[in-house]
Amino acid sequence: MDSILSLCRRRGFIFQSSEIYGGVAGFFDYGPIGCELKRNIKDLWWRDVVRRREDIVGIDCSTIMHPQVWKASGHADGFADPMVDCRESKMRYRADQLYFAPVSVDGKMIGYISQLEDVGMQTLAEESAQRLKAKRKIQGKMDPIQLRTIAEANAEELAQIPSPTTGNPGTLTAPRQFNLMFTTHIGAVADAASMAYLRPETAQGIFVNFKNIVDSTRVKLPFGIAQIGRAYRNEITPRNFTFRSREFEQMELEYFIAPDADWQSFHREWVETRLHWYLSLGIRRELLGQEVHAMEKLAHYARACTDITFAYPFGIQEIEGIAARGNFDLTCHQQCSGKSLEFFDEDTQQRYLPHVIEPSAGVDRVFLAVLCSAYDEDELNGERRTVLRLSPQLAPIKAGIFPLQKNKPELVQLSRSIFENLQRHWNVHWDATGAIGRRYRRMDEVGTPYAITVDFDSLENGTVTLRERDSAEQSRVAIAELVDALREKLD
Ligand code: ATP
Repeated sequence: MDSILSLCRRRGFIFQSSEIYGGVAGFFDYGPIGCELKRNIKDLWWRDVVRRREDIVGIDCSTIMHPQVWKASGHADGFADPMVDCRESKMRYRADQLYFAPVSVDGKMIGYISQLEDVGMQTLAEESAQRLKAKRKIQGKMDPIQLRTIAEANAEELAQIPSPTTGNPGTLTAPRQFNLMFTTHIGAVADAASMAYLRPETAQGIFVNFKNIVDSTRVKLPFGIAQIGRAYRNEITPRNFTFRSREFEQMELEYFIAPDADWQSFHREWVETRLHWYLSLGIRRELLGQEVHAMEKLAHYARACTDITFAYPFGIQEIEGIAARGNFDLTCHQQCSGKSLEFFDEDTQQRYLPHVIEPSAGVDRVFLAVLCSAYDEDELNGERRTVLRLSPQLAPIKAGIFPLQKNKPELVQLSRSIFENLQRHWNVHWDATGAIGRRYRRMDEVGTPYAITVDFDSLENGTVTLRERDSAEQSRVAIAELVDALREKLD
C-alpha cells in the first residue's frame, strides 16, 4: 500500500484535499493522471451498463433533493453508525471498528487493552497485552486474548477500557447513533425548515424519477435506470486511503422486474455480469471474490445481497454490492409522496410496483482495486522499474511520443505532427526531455501501454519504433499505419 500511495502522489494520481492547509480527512483530489483513469472507469461502466444495452437508460440527478426523499427512504432516521467518543482526545470511533479485550495472567485479570480494526489486529492486541503485563511487572503465562467490539462492553468494562489515542482508561463514552448524512440549508435562512441533506447514495434519485422515466421513454419491464454521481457520507473513521472517504462517486443501477418474475435468477445473472465486468477491466481474477450475505444479516426489506470483493493490501473488502430489494423503495416513496408510482403492464393489463435488483459500485473503490491489481515492480536491462500493467482501455495515457533527441528540429517536427494526429483519437503525451530509457520508465509507471520513438530512420523511411510496455519489445511501424495499428491494440 505504501508503494501505491507514493506512486499516487509522485505521479499525480491522487492528492489529499486542501493539502496546503493540512488536508481534511476523508476527502481527496484526483490529479491529471488520476482523473483520466477515473474517467475511463466511469466511461467503461456507462458504455457496458447503459449504451450497449437496450433495456437500460441513464439519468443524472441533483445531489441535493427534497428532504422528504430521505425521510421516505429511511436514511433520515436510520442511516446511522454507532459511535464512541474519547472525551479527552475528542477522537471519534465507529463502535464496530473499535475492539477491546480483558488481559489476564494465569487466570487473574490485570486490565484491559483496546485495538482499532486492522488486518493484523490480533497480533497487535497481543503485543499491547504484553506491554501491559510488563508495565505492571507481572510474571506468569498470559491467557489468550479474545477481542470483542466496544459495542459489546458493559458499563463496568467501559470504565476500564483505555482510549486507543491516549491509552487512558475511563474516557470512552457508551456507543451512540450518529447519522452519516451531511446537512446543509437551502436559501438564505438557516433554520430547521430549510435544512437539506447531501445525498448519501445516488439510488434514491432513480426511484423518485421512476415515473418520469416510464412516462417519457418507451421502457418495458424488465428495464434498468443507471446513474453515476457523487455521494456524501460523514464517515466516522474514514480510512484506507480513498476506500472509505466522505465524498465519493457511485455507479448505481436499479433494474426493475415484475413482482412475479424469477428474482433469484435475475440476481444471479447480475452478479455474474458484474463480476465479468471487473475481469474485462483486466483486474486479476485471483484478487476478486464474492461474499453472499447471510439471510439473518440482511436489512429487513432485502431478499438477498452478494458483494463483489477485492483483496486490497489492507484486507478483502467490498467494491460492489448486488442486492435484491423487492419493491421497498418505490412503496416508501409512493406512500410518502402520495403519488402513484405504479407501472402499467400492457401485456398483462395489470398495475403494480415493480421489484428491483440493485448493483451498486463505488468508483473510488474500483479505481483503487485497478491500481492495486496493476501495480508491479520488475527488472528490465538490469534496472528496477515500477510498472502499472493497466489494460489499454483503462490507461490514462494511451501512447507516449518521443523524438530521439530534442536538439534535432527534424525529429521534433515529425514527432509533433505524429502527436497532433494521434491526439485527435486518444489522450497521448509528447516528451522530448531526458534519456529515452528514462522517458519509457516514466510512461511505464503510469501504465502507458505504448511508446513511439521518432529516430533518424524515421526521416529516411517513414517508420517509427513502437515499444510495448509489459514486454518492452520494440517493432517498426509505418507512420501512415500508426492510427490503425494503435486502434487495433487499444480496442
Ligand atoms: P461499507 O459497508 O463498506 O460501508 P456499504 O455497504 O455501506 O459499504 P453501499 O451503501 O452498499 O455501501 O454503497 C454502495 C457502494 O458505494 C459500495 O459498494 C462502495 O463501493 C461505495 N461506497 C460506500 N461507502 C463508501 C465510502 N465511504 N467511500 C468510498 N466508497 C464507498
